[in-house]
Amino acid sequence: MSKIKVMDELLANKIAAGEVVEKCASVVKELVENSIDAESTIIKIDLIDSGIKEIKVTDNGIGMVREDAELAFFRHATSKIKDESDLYRINTLGFRGEALASIASVSKVTLKTSTGELGTIVNINGGIVESITNGDARKGTIISVRDLFFNTPARLKHLKSLQSELANITDYINKLALSHPNIKFTLTNNEVVVLNTDGTGNLLKTINAIYGTEVSRNMFEVTCENDDYEVSGYISAPFINRSSRNHIVTLVNGRIVRNQELNRIINDGYHSYKPDNRYPIVVLNIEVDPSLIDVNIHPTKMDIKFSKFDGLIELISNMVKSKIGKKNLIPKIEVKDEVVIEKPKYEEITLDLERVSEPEVYYNPIEINTSLIDTQVDEDIEEKGERMPEIYPVGLVHGTYIIGQNELGMYLIDQHAAKERINYEYYKEKLGNPKNDSISLLFPFVIELTNNEFIIVKEKLDVLRSLKFDVEEFGVNSVIIKSHPAWLPVGYEEVSTRKIIEIILNTGSNFSIVKFNEKLAITLSCKLAIKANENITLEEQEQLINDLRKCDNPFNCPHGRPTTIFYSNYDLEKLFKRSGFDKIV
Ligand code: ZN
Ligand code: ZN
Repeated sequence: MSKIKVMDELLANKIAAGEVVEKCASVVKELVENSIDAESTIIKIDLIDSGIKEIKVTDNGIGMVREDAELAFFRHATSKIKDESDLYRINTLGFRGEALASIASVSKVTLKTSTGELGTIVNINGGIVESITNGDARKGTIISVRDLFFNTPARLKHLKSLQSELANITDYINKLALSHPNIKFTLTNNEVVVLNTDGTGNLLKTINAIYGTEVSRNMFEVTCENDDYEVSGYISAPFINRSSRNHIVTLVNGRIVRNQELNRIINDGYHSYKPDNRYPIVVLNIEVDPSLIDVNIHPTKMDIKFSKFDGLIELISNMVKSKIGKKNLIPKIEVKDEVVIEKPKYEEITLDLERVSEPEVYYNPIEINTSLIDTQVDEDIEEKGERMPEIYPVGLVHGTYIIGQNELGMYLIDQHAAKERINYEYYKEKLGNPKNDSISLLFPFVIELTNNEFIIVKEKLDVLRSLKFDVEEFGVNSVIIKSHPAWLPVGYEEVSTRKIIEIILNTGSNFSIVKFNEKLAITLSCKLAIKANENITLEEQEQLINDLRKCDNPFNCPHGRPTTIFYSNYDLEKLFKRSGFDKIV
């Protein structure tokens, strides 16, 4: 190639680098995807300073022969298409060919690669090949990208903080590990291991490597299928949740995709089992005939459209709801095992006469985990068809928490949350049931409003009427209620009506009857639930627990807070250091 042509190409690469390389994660993505394409089963990513100083990817893939290694950094260098039916590969190729050349044009690259015979080492500085020499015969590829943007300092400033560059890379590698549980991924930053998966193909083990045991122990395996789709994966118990939607991962035929509608359907399956602003951890793979999907690939994201989408949504929605709807979801307080730590050496030479006797061992402070109650117990309950076991009240703490017990252990029940749940299911049913009667008032009551409020309510009178209120304008800025729906709580008719009008006022223009009913049910249930610090009798406690057990979801208040927490006999014994000792001591 002539020198001028090379310089032209170099410029084009640098310009492209601005678009392709937005952050260190873009470089990592390019390099690691190349490793995956090379059929690697072990991929190690080593970063220095979150990749800004160096990104090194080591794999055990098929490697490259010298000719390919030389060509890899030229624009439009096409890597071989192995499987023409692989739609993803074809769509990404244009981007792929250019990306490596672009990266090399704004960094210092060393590529060591071998197919198992004499290897090749290519050194590139700012896009210019400095040397090509013989390397060793270790099969696979090691590529190192150093000093990203060293020759375009303006772009360097676009990189984010070390922390957010690392967060982006970690997030990307986590998702890649979830979509390739059969590849062993190791990610380090400044020699500290950030992620290490085992590559055995076990998705739950990969989840464990990313999120830890508390999460992996509380994941439910799910599968379902219809004529077009096959879905499998893991969904978290509702109390395992995160503040971002980012942990809902959906794969299609093993590739990560982003489809907001799909994420929303999955999240909706958890409705009222968790707070609305928290999101579950989910990994679902959808197997589908490629002709039923339309993939739109952009270098930084991948969106997808499905044919027969309604069928898929129904399938996934039912799968999530029925899985959660069958489980006993009382979180169990779990005491971690004591760990004996050797006494530090320096203690031995400390002469502290005040100290009476030193303990021989040090215990870890009690660490508490939440998890589901033991699988065995869980299954027994499922068989009996009861999601919440029988619990017998013992007493009330601070007029707030009921202490309960059964043969399995001790329970704490938040009486407000419990009552709220019972009320919520009651009102939700009533609100959704149009056959309800109304009750005429002997003494109609008048509700006064400000003139602004009156204008809104006047427009929404039909909503009140559909809820079985007999309501009319009354004088200036007032409405008169002559009859009300029968389900309003006795003694609270006027308060409830005011509450309903308040919600109508706040709902504004984007009024939806479903959302309105939901909000109304939640508000009424909270307002009319027993407040904390209200002492109820043992009989009332028993009634409350029995009503709670009859609920569709007895485990959470309508805001998603837990109603009940469980301490097993075993964990109580551990807490009091009884386990391992004679229990009578
Ligand atoms: Zn409340
Ligand atoms: Zn609540």
